Amino acid sequence: MADAKRIVFLGPPNSGKGTQAVRLAAALGIPAISTGEMLRSAVAAGTPLGHRVSDVMDRGELVSDDLMAEVVKARLAEDDAKVGFLLDGYPRTLPQVETLDSILESIGASIDHVVMIDAPEPVLVERALGRGRKDDTEDVVKIRLEEYRSKTEPLVGHYRGLGLLREIDGHQSMDAVQQAILDAVKDQ
Ligand code: AMP
Repeated sequence: MADAKRIVFLGPPNSGKGTQAVRLAAALGIPAISTGEMLRSAVAAGTPLGHRVSDVMDRGELVSDDLMAEVVKARLAEDDAKVGFLLDGYPRTLPQVETLDSILESIGASIDHVVMIDAPEPVLVERALGRGRKDDTEDVVKIRLEEYRSKTEPLVGHYRGLGLLREIDGHQSMDAVQQAILDAVKDQ
């Protein structure tokens, strides 16, 4: 597992990937970087970034690739990301894949694993509505899923083609999902 240091988490909203990202990052001693969390903190703190993204996020749509590139470039340049990182929620579009590739290329690094957690759509919707977050009304849940299917799902084939994809069944207990992920990224 020594070299499993740069990991991307892919998956639809409410696949459980946020929880699993934090657990795996802790196990590997690398920072879990959730772009969704970063943006939510920016909104909560009322920063200029927060003001720019809050309406788009409330609608369940994706923030622009250019703005996300700025956010991610700055975050990956921080000291703690030198030992590696787990990116949860980025990249989410094919242009974002290119941005990440160019950031990694500039530091002579590459992605070790892309962990894809999925679950049947009715399970995702039920979990979303059970969560009761401000942005989780039924319409917004639908839009978030549509954004995922149209813009993010194409990344699955891309990373599969590169031999980086590790597919995990997210419709199991949290501990079972965690074990499946650990197995998938060990002894790469
Ligand atoms: P998440 O918690 O990952 O579901 O992200 C919450 C929201 O933040 C998303 O619905 C988007 O509006 C925005 N967001 C997070 N990451 C990205 C990204 N990589 N590209 C575009 N928008 C993002």
